[in-house]
Amino acid sequence: MSWLEQWRQAATGWIYPPQCAGCDVPLSSQRQIEVPFLCHDCEEKLVPIPQGYCPVCGQSYDAPVGMSLRCGNCGDRELAFDFAVSAYRSSGEARAMMHAYKYGKQLHLSRLMGKLMQSIWGDTRLHEIDSWLVVPVPLHPKRQRGRGFNQSQEIAREFIRHAPPEIDLKLAPVLKRSRHTVRQAQLDRRERLKNLKGAFQLRKKLSKELVNEHGILIIDDVMTTGTTVSECAEILRSAGDAVSSEWSRIVGLSVLRG
Ligand SMILES: [Zn+2]
Ligand SMILES: [Zn+2]
Repeated sequence: MSWLEQWRQAATGWIYPPQCAGCDVPLSSQRQIEVPFLCHDCEEKLVPIPQGYCPVCGQSYDAPVGMSLRCGNCGDRELAFDFAVSAYRSSGEARAMMHAYKYGKQLHLSRLMGKLMQSIWGDTRLHEIDSWLVVPVPLHPKRQRGRGFNQSQEIAREFIRHAPPEIDLKLAPVLKRSRHTVRQAQLDRRERLKNLKGAFQLRKKLSKELVNEHGILIIDDVMTTGTTVSECAEILRSAGDAVSSEWSRIVGLSVLRG
């Protein structure tokens, strides 16, 4: 651990007494380094996405792998990303922690969320490209002011800090939310698919070189139907088209899968 890392560790330990985000037990400094703000017992309760998940939208199958060729979530619609991968299911403990993080102004839990997302590297397709732009799903400024931070951007930052050394990740907040929308979580599936039309925009024109040389990782905290990430991917695809170039791949990543 570098001195900067150690200092950071000490500083956050001083501001926030290291406690488990799930059950409030105090954590040793060694545990804090391994998995920040999560005790071993609560980590055990998280439900990883099993090996068999949809190769397109990342939804984990309840049926045994290979039972259905068309995924119930994405089989009947066009998604603008190439594929999506999530780390854990949004159930029980995980859902409660994410809720506390986002709505309880618990910015320090960004470190935990970024750490949890590391398990997506188990998907070998992510190692086929070594240079990625990391694009957080933007929040509308009004919502960001209320929340105090954009969780996707903070998770992206932490995710980048722990990336495998052979992979180059650059934070690229190139999207903005131009329309204030109802929270996706408050809507049913049909409404979700319509709610975000035209909600995102590019901040500025991207260069042909930038598009040529990178894949895109779109980061969201929780993915459910994949609509939000797909809308972002669509804007990025047209940004490539506008400079007659193409991203090598557009992938959606999230900590939790609803
Ligand atoms: Zn705990
Ligand atoms: Zn699917």
